Amino acid sequence: MFAEMEEVALRDRIPIMERDGLEGMLQFLRIQQPKRILEIGTAIGYSALQMKSVCPSAEIVTVERDEIRFQQACRYVDRAGCQKTMHLLLGDALDVHEEVASYGSFDALFIDAAKGHYEAFFQLYAPSLRPEGVIYIDNVLFRGYVFEGEAPTKRMQQLAKKMRRFHEWMEEQVDYTAVTYPVGDGVMVVVRNHESGGHKE
Ligand code: SAH
Ligand code: MG
Repeated sequence: MFAEMEEVALRDRIPIMERDGLEGMLQFLRIQQPKRILEIGTAIGYSALQMKSVCPSAEIVTVERDEIRFQQACRYVDRAGCQKTMHLLLGDALDVHEEVASYGSFDALFIDAAKGHYEAFFQLYAPSLRPEGVIYIDNVLFRGYVFEGEAPTKRMQQLAKKMRRFHEWMEEQVDYTAVTYPVGDGVMVVVRNHESGGHKE
């Protein structure tokens, strides 16, 4: 089914995660084995089902604002027989915060939606993670235009600038440690800093 989804994404210009970035993130998830995952930006359910395939016992909540993509995702999730453990929500992630909160807390948060709103998504949803939770963020290098070169269009230049500001903002967050991995379109992995638990220097 993944091959079919990749074809559909190519045909309909749906920006599913790039292979390398996906593999990079799946490696972390294999190690982390989160029990509950929140995804912002379902598209047709490709990354959600990929995450499910490496964390079979995980419960996944995923949000998509585009109704057609949401419907496609619902069909794929049904076909995979995962409708009991994968909850697809239709709506703007900036609006459905309360509905998401009703599902409880999460061990992993995957942000892969409108690039201009990453800081807002982070502020809204990072607090719903358990203390040991991990945040994964896609497209943080935006085809390489974030830290070098100049994007070909005005709109892309603006997005690159917004993403650069997101990196700067992230660096100021003393409660979190963020690392950007240059795989796929750039995957950032963020963890919460903890007071050392009894281990004195
Ligand atoms: N994670 C998917 C790809 C997501 S593409 C995968 O790899 O398979 C980004 C998606 O985020 C698009 O379908 C877009 O409609 C959706 N999106 C963008 N902004 C959003 C928002 N504010 N709330 C919910 N979904 C959003
Ligand atoms: Mg992406």
